Amino acid sequence: MEPSISPWLRHPRPCLDLSAVARKPQHRLLPRDRRVARAARGGDGAAHEPLHVVICGAGVIGCSTAYYLRRLGETRKRPVKTLVVDRKGVGEAATGVAAGFLPREFHNGPDDQLHDRGFLEMRKLAAELELKTYKPLPGWLVRPDSSAGAPAGTAPWLDGEVSITQQIGEAAQVDPSELTSALFGASGAELRPGAVRGIEEVSDWGNHRLTGIRIDDDVVRCDVAVVAMGPWSVLAEDWFQGFRVPLLGTLGSMAFYDRPAGSVDSAIAISQPDDEGRDLMVTARADGKITCLGVQGGHKVLTGQDLRQINPEDVLPVQEDLEAGRHAFERLSSLARGEAPGSIGAGVRSVMTNRAPMIGRIPGYGGTAYVACGHNAYG
Ligand SMILES: Cc1cc2nc3c(=O)[nH]c(=O)nc-3n(C[C@H](O)[C@H](O)[C@H](O)COP(=O)(O)OP(=O)(O)OC[C@H]3O[C@@H](n4cnc5c(N)ncnc54)[C@H](O)[C@@H]3O)c2cc1C
Repeated sequence: MEPSISPWLRHPRPCLDLSAVARKPQHRLLPRDRRVARAARGGDGAAHEPLHVVICGAGVIGCSTAYYLRRLGETRKRPVKTLVVDRKGVGEAATGVAAGFLPREFHNGPDDQLHDRGFLEMRKLAAELELKTYKPLPGWLVRPDSSAGAPAGTAPWLDGEVSITQQIGEAAQVDPSELTSALFGASGAELRPGAVRGIEEVSDWGNHRLTGIRIDDDVVRCDVAVVAMGPWSVLAEDWFQGFRVPLLGTLGSMAFYDRPAGSVDSAIAISQPDDEGRDLMVTARADGKITCLGVQGGHKVLTGQDLRQINPEDVLPVQEDLEAGRHAFERLSSLARGEAPGSIGAGVRSVMTNRAPMIGRIPGYGGTAYVACGHNAYG
């Protein structure tokens, strides 16, 4: 995608968080700032001055933030100009390899309500964005079982040594690339390729205010920034004073088997973990032509220090996980027998240590900095 960069990004300009200033001024306001703050309270026409937001990360979380920001700007009659920065591209890290499986019932306590709202919101989004790949998805929890034949009432490709332990309840599927591109396209945001290296801020008696984002060797001024860098959101610990991002990354390796379009029913089978703790997930993807298998080794956990050493573009699949996955897949289905995958891939999920996603204001920055990460296995 060809990035377009607006002129305001090239010219540093005075920066002001209107909402924070309007509520609680912490600095002596210059005459122009007073006018803008008054406007933010509805005082005059300058209320239409746009809020400049930089979103760090163009995965599904960064792009959906951009989309909802645009809608928020419309309802509040305050335009929002959003720049999304990514070192890889739109939806090219975990989002790009995800199976797009959306099970309503797979949540784990802290995120119960959010998960359910997300499931219903996704249904609305699919209609709003006219997504072609969104559809209900039948699925089963299975286990390899040499005494069993092909289970009746499942997907035809589940024809190996397998028995069903449970049918998965309500679930849907979407192609994450279609979803993320549609969100980004409808957000009206601009894309800037590059690596975020840090922030610019002013501080006064322990009150901080973000004034810009450092992208490679450049500084982009903004009113508000959102950190949505998946597991690399841990870097925000080095940028924001006193801020902690207690997350771990879990590495998933994937093999994609090419199939002629329409030859494989969309469905999912999740197999019991093997002796090494690897989960096998076989999904006929929403595009109808690729069957992929995902192996998430429970022991392939990356700490914050590990994540500081590896860039998103350098994440590679683990060969032994791919091998284990291939053997397990061959037992479950004749689809994979004797066939090499068309391609392989890997991605890192971000998992908070308390297993609840981290979404909201970064403390101490007066509403100029936000974070959204830790969306775990079913984002
Ligand atoms: C193998 C696998 C299978 C999955 N399957 C499913 C599934 O079936 N269903 C489901 O709901 N979820 C699934 N997930 C989880 C889902 O992919 C994630 O929850 C979701 O994609 C997280 O999105 P994100 O935007 O937070 O992160 P990401 O997609 O990782 O995006 C973060 C972005 O930040 C960028 N970035 C990082 N550092 C910097 C920097 N310094 N400067 C600029 N940019 C930076 C990266 O390049 C990346 O594009 C799966 C994940 C994996 C790995």
